[in-house]
Amino acid sequence: MPSPVYFGSARQARLEAKESLPAKLDLIIEQLHLCDRVKNETVAIKMHTGNNVGYSTVHPVFVRKVVQAVKDGGGKPFVTDVNWDVRGAEERGYSMETLGCPVFPAAGPDEKYFYPHEHPFKNIQTWKMAGLIHDATFLINFAHVKGHPSCGFGAAFKNLALGGMVGETRGAMHDAMHFDPYWFAELCPDAFTRQRVAASCPHEAVVEDRDRPGEMHLHFEQCNQCGRCLQVAPPGSLKIDPVNFYAFQEACAISVKLVLATFAPDKTTHLSLATHMTPMCDCFGFTSMPILPDAGVFGSDDIVAIDRAVLDVTGCTRLIEENLPTSLEVHKREGHPFRWLHGPYKDPYLVTEYGAQLGLGSCEYELIDVLPVEQIERAPIGYIPAA
Ligand code: SF4
Repeated sequence: MPSPVYFGSARQARLEAKESLPAKLDLIIEQLHLCDRVKNETVAIKMHTGNNVGYSTVHPVFVRKVVQAVKDGGGKPFVTDVNWDVRGAEERGYSMETLGCPVFPAAGPDEKYFYPHEHPFKNIQTWKMAGLIHDATFLINFAHVKGHPSCGFGAAFKNLALGGMVGETRGAMHDAMHFDPYWFAELCPDAFTRQRVAASCPHEAVVEDRDRPGEMHLHFEQCNQCGRCLQVAPPGSLKIDPVNFYAFQEACAISVKLVLATFAPDKTTHLSLATHMTPMCDCFGFTSMPILPDAGVFGSDDIVAIDRAVLDVTGCTRLIEENLPTSLEVHKREGHPFRWLHGPYKDPYLVTEYGAQLGLGSCEYELIDVLPVEQIERAPIGYIPAA
């Protein structure tokens, strides 16, 4: 059976507050029966509070509505994020005063409060889950939708997968992309050719390894799989291979499975705000121009379904190419526009497929518009003669 995903479009028919996104979020909160589900629960609202001078994260107006709904239902809410983002959160507008609840670092100020979970995956054995999220009895995963250099896009999965773990595990999840070998030094023993390989990349994504002479290092975040380096590297010496790129998305799905497993059934829900969608994630510490038109706000108890719905809705819109940083290039136009931008092996749908395989939800969903945009009929325009 398809999972319901509630949706409020960013578009309005009339310029009235009741048709705005915060008002549509209220309608989604009602549809999710949030107030009825949180009585006496300790509610972690996991969001990304951004970094440095970023301002495209979820605006406090939206967060406060969620906080108020939890309080109205008799729950005890707190907003949480990783320690280094919480440290400056009030500078970006997130405080007790603006949100109506405290903002806590998910694993404590030094990320020393965590619960280890054993789950072997490539380079990772122990996953260190943030203690405050582990201890909460209800989870609201409130994500901002944007592009991401490792996997094409970040929303519900990404918000929880990275933010639910301590820095050591977050780093290991990124390192999973390096687990399968991609450089075969014996097939390229000379330094001059290695320099030419590095010079062939316009994104500085392949470089000589500083610590291991004769080895090359791929910065997967910067690589858009254009293939220029493969034209220079001796055959077989360098692989630009899906197995490396896919590892991060699989790690995200595993992380989310571990986090969600610490909550009772029906004690988790997901919200995503798809506005001001930038090419990169909110960790970058600044906000660049939006590259997709605002889509709206989404809510669902099914994390697979909500990310899927966000991708389908945003995938129907155009990439605003005039807003792209000039350092980025689009060399293939297949699939979702985020994939155009980050390359064919960073297909944003992959994380939902891994998630569905792990039993986290359904790729089938029903999109329920909580306030369909009224199409306003107008009479034909009459002829007005020139004066
Ligand atoms: S595929 Fe393109 S972006 Fe990636 S390392 Fe090679 S040249 Fe650089």
